[in-house]
Amino acid sequence: MKEKGTISIHTENIFPIIKKFLYSDNEIFLRELVSNAADATQKIKRLSGLGQYNGELGELQVDVAFDKDKKTITISDNGLGMTAEEIKKYINQIAFSGATEFVEKFKDAKDANEIIGKFGLGFYSAFMVSDHVEIQTLSYQDGAEPAAWICDGSTEFEIKEGTRTTRGTDIILHVNSESEEFLDQQKLQTILDKYFKFLTVKLVFGTTTDSVEDGEDADGKKQYKSVDVPNVINGAKAIWTQSPSELTDEDYLQFYKELYPYQEDPLFWIHLNVDYPFNLTGVLYFPKLKNDVEIQRNKIKLFSRQVFITDEVKDIVPEFLMLLHGVIDSPDIPLNVSRSFLQADGNVKKINSYITKKVAEKLGELFKKDRAAYEAKWSDIGLFVKYGMISEEKFYDKAKDFALFTNTEKKNFTMDEYRDKVKDIQTDKDGNLVYLYTVDPAKQDGFIQSATKKGYDVLLMDTQIDSHFVSQMEQKLDKTQLKRVDSNTADKLIDKGEKMEHVLSEDQTKQVKEIFEKAINKPAYQVEVEALSPDELPVTVTMDEFMRRMKDMAAMGGGMSFYGNMPDSYKVAINGNHKIVNKILASTDEAEQSALAKQAFDLALLSQGLLTGAELTAFVNRSVSLI
Ligand code: ADP
Ligand code: MG
Repeated sequence: MKEKGTISIHTENIFPIIKKFLYSDNEIFLRELVSNAADATQKIKRLSGLGQYNGELGELQVDVAFDKDKKTITISDNGLGMTAEEIKKYINQIAFSGATEFVEKFKDAKDANEIIGKFGLGFYSAFMVSDHVEIQTLSYQDGAEPAAWICDGSTEFEIKEGTRTTRGTDIILHVNSESEEFLDQQKLQTILDKYFKFLTVKLVFGTTTDSVEDGEDADGKKQYKSVDVPNVINGAKAIWTQSPSELTDEDYLQFYKELYPYQEDPLFWIHLNVDYPFNLTGVLYFPKLKNDVEIQRNKIKLFSRQVFITDEVKDIVPEFLMLLHGVIDSPDIPLNVSRSFLQADGNVKKINSYITKKVAEKLGELFKKDRAAYEAKWSDIGLFVKYGMISEEKFYDKAKDFALFTNTEKKNFTMDEYRDKVKDIQTDKDGNLVYLYTVDPAKQDGFIQSATKKGYDVLLMDTQIDSHFVSQMEQKLDKTQLKRVDSNTADKLIDKGEKMEHVLSEDQTKQVKEIFEKAINKPAYQVEVEALSPDELPVTVTMDEFMRRMKDMAAMGGGMSFYGNMPDSYKVAINGNHKIVNKILASTDEAEQSALAKQAFDLALLSQGLLTGAELTAFVNRSVSLI
């Protein structure tokens, strides 16, 4: 039996194209060929289970070996094998059926994954690294003859009698000169570890040599001999395929350690398991974040039937959950297609919203079951939740019941609880609720104390995401404003329409304004004399909420850069009802007036950490002389 033929496609030779476009990602040839071998073993197992194969199954196994001298890599399995007819059908016809279309469409493709697989070219990825490829196979079927197929990457192939004597298949790659890097123990080991740690069928990578003691020589020196140690790649427990009821917390933590050896233990996890309308299993972990600025992305590993595919899960996992860790496994994700295709895919969309829903449910459940424990974790979870609420409408709808506001006393409230807490005292004259917040409780302590004195509550919004969260809250919450606690004097933060009685005459007010303007002498500081309660500070420096937000946004690269270029501008509120103002007015010494005004102003700056350098030194010196 010997037959030659031509693979019937319109194009002369598709392999140069495959090679050219797939070069960057060419290690996936191993993923494809080992997957095929593993599939073959699963198929014979199934046939045996169905009673369609009555021979010995033996221990099902896939072997990968290489020979540096012969420049070959061999992938062997004891799966179901193929007859010559099946080779023609599965390798020649089916694999090539998509080839014409492939050449047409993907002449400009850049991503290997885009092509391999979509057109059933899995097997042909072998040509990415090979001059020619040989199949030696023996089918499980009664009376089957061993068959061989050899192809040099042109459209010419040869089928002849094979040499294999036991059931199964060898794929022998004759590695081309550009791909000799793959003829390396370490390189192959790394690739196999990456893709097949969790493979269902035993995968053995050649043999590694180890030395063991072998007696002593005449001088009593120990002798060693080399022994072959089969190097089993897989064996790690793919816990995501198990039922949650079979697993303990220890199992989940152990698995986490296996995936991320140097990471702190996660906070909690979610076991995903759906089989309709799509198939998906996985375990997602919430890592400890601690408001970390350097958030690690791309920590979720995507598998397809326990074969690793990629750790780029963008589009499959919602953006805000990219911070999670863990594994997702789904044969229903079109793995080998381009990004735009993926985004449009119906399953991918469903998977995305399923994950969002699951995460929201889990968080809601934790909140309900043990609020104290949930609150303890809030500093870590908060980032996900806020990020999610900002970026996904559907998530917001669920999360609004378990998102927490934390105030400066470190007490936590749900959004509803908080509204009830402050609504009586923090509603302004127009019926708007005003929530006060601080981004830096140490720096804004003076303002917080003034607000607290008035009976107001102040929220902590001191993490990275909070500036966005503040805007989001304002959009979402009905008739509610959020104001930073230092955006105005405590009396004016929440305008209740009450007017403090001014003790100064119009003339005096003008005079005070002039004295302070002269003493401060900086255009960025707009002096205003206000009627505040006498126990407020004599001088308060504030930046308007709107102006500050615009500037913050410009600094972060969003919003209108116009504001970023504007000089800082502050309001200097002089408390006309404060005793010091009387003292200044009473003085007839201009120098003394100015020194007092400057001193009061500097104190305001000092209380906000705005007084530094030479000005701070001058302040200290002036204080000393005043003492
Ligand atoms: P796919 O795996 O998506 O079917 P491939 O191009 O990877 O596409 O493989 C084509 C076909 O060749 C397989 O479906 C299978 O029938 C056959 N095949 C490939 N490798 C083997 C193998 N090691 N043992 C048995 N059959 C194989
Ligand atoms: Mg395949």
